[in-house]
Amino acid sequence: MLPYDRKNEMKYMLEHPPTCIKLNWTKPNKEITEIIQKNFGKNTTTFGIKCTCSNNNLTVFIDFNGSCKIQCLNCNNEFEIFNITKHGYEGALGERDEEEFNQFRQIECDACKSVGFDVFTAYQYSGETDVLEDDDCDCKPEDLFGWYAIVLKCKKCGAENKIVDFECA
Ligand SMILES: [Zn+2]
Ligand SMILES: [Zn+2]
Repeated sequence: MLPYDRKNEMKYMLEHPPTCIKLNWTKPNKEITEIIQKNFGKNTTTFGIKCTCSNNNLTVFIDFNGSCKIQCLNCNNEFEIFNITKHGYEGALGERDEEEFNQFRQIECDACKSVGFDVFTAYQYSGETDVLEDDDCDCKPEDLFGWYAIVLKCKKCGAENKIVDFECA
């Protein structure tokens, strides 16, 4: 594994997914990576999401504030991939307050209303890691993303659904 080097930041980031997907990431496909980088720029990493049982047919619950929970359609395991109070630039630095309530809604495919998806997440870095130069910052560089997105590909009809596009800094 590469050590963190500001000059080769994106090389490092591609090998180090954010902590919030540590147990659940997989390599993304090329098509999705291209779509995401076209929208968010080259300083964006993309990962696929899978359950710890290795199934990637997943159903997705989103809160209005960008927080996201996943349920595996194979083993029913539930896991969180983004929590606004802990993840992203402001979450990692402890600048977000606890939310008062959660209103998760299940995502349906825009085209066919199915609820099983391939899930992909994207993280944009554009200078947020400057904060690491402060001596008292013990965050990991990969957790300091300023923008995150979720793109779903419907398992049934193949339609792509962008469901989150969220600024964290
Ligand atoms: Zn599972
Ligand atoms: Zn569909």
